[in-house]
Amino acid sequence: MPASKVADLLRQLQKTHHLSLEEYELILSNRTKEDEELAKNLAKDCTEEYYGNGVYTRGLIEFTNYCKNGCHYCGIQRENQEVERYRLTKEEILDCCREGHQLGFRTFVLQGGEDPYFTDERIVEIVKAIKEEFPDCAVTLSIGEKSKESYEKYFQAGADRYLLRHETADEAHYQKLHPKELSFQNRMRCLQDLKDIGFQVGCGFMVGSPGQSSKSLAKDLYFIQEFKPDMCGIGPFIPQHSTIFAKEKQGSLEDTLFLLSMLRLIQPNLLIPATTALGTIDKRGRELGILAGANVLMPNLSPTAVRKKYLLYDNKICTGDEAAQCRACLSRRMESVGAKLLVDRGDAKKAKEARYEKA
Ligand code: SF4
Repeated sequence: MPASKVADLLRQLQKTHHLSLEEYELILSNRTKEDEELAKNLAKDCTEEYYGNGVYTRGLIEFTNYCKNGCHYCGIQRENQEVERYRLTKEEILDCCREGHQLGFRTFVLQGGEDPYFTDERIVEIVKAIKEEFPDCAVTLSIGEKSKESYEKYFQAGADRYLLRHETADEAHYQKLHPKELSFQNRMRCLQDLKDIGFQVGCGFMVGSPGQSSKSLAKDLYFIQEFKPDMCGIGPFIPQHSTIFAKEKQGSLEDTLFLLSMLRLIQPNLLIPATTALGTIDKRGRELGILAGANVLMPNLSPTAVRKKYLLYDNKICTGDEAAQCRACLSRRMESVGAKLLVDRGDAKKAKEARYEKA
């Protein structure tokens, strides 16, 4: 096929933000280095139009590593006996927020496994306490699949956003990555419920996970195009030594960067994190992620004493650093690529706002 076909499609995507499933697959299967460079440059223009050179930060608080699920790729899944389990108390979570607020974070992400100890009542109490003490901040929850009623309670309590990675938009592939009791339909039901309730919704997927094909990745891109989330987090698959995928190959930097650029072209105002997993497979992974189209960083605010216990994958970076060190380090890293950390809640820009700021 002519080399320019992929380039034509990338330019078309930048203009219309819409392609067919087959066109996504064609791009993913046939792209060249030149196409990757083109995608990066087109994505950079989109990011600048909407977000300038500003990078939003979210303070991540990993408040429980208990989980009732057994996702095959995950280091803290229920069957892993090596994990030293912990839970943070409400006061410990609030202490993380206090430190984070002083450092300039205006979004707190409460992330954890699906831990039955944290009942709806406990989550509601924590969300309310954070919102009361930090009314200028957004609260994001990332605590997995729940009923619509539970999501409604969290929203009423003041939670603004919810992150739930869909992991893969290919049903057969989803079943390969998860135990039987977890279903693709329920994951999709959760995402739709969250959107219907009014949350700003984040989804996302792993790049290079076992059994993934160009077709399954094309389905991910098509899903993002149609679902229109507020945020999409993608990171390379990194094997964890105690899982059944321990010997699988990790996802590549090049593929992840290219997909970041694709996401930016699909939805120019999308909030896209340069993930810790990207920084784990390459020393400059997060900087390269920002250059490829990402505009969010999610450094860890969890107490250093528990960080090494929340290892979803091997060799995770920044598990020994204090929050202040992390922020300073990220600030320097961003400056090295002409970007700047912002002190901001970091909501997604609407098309009108972006044009207004440019005028
Ligand atoms: S990926 Fe999430 S839900 Fe699945 S086992 Fe890990 S912590 Fe639990």
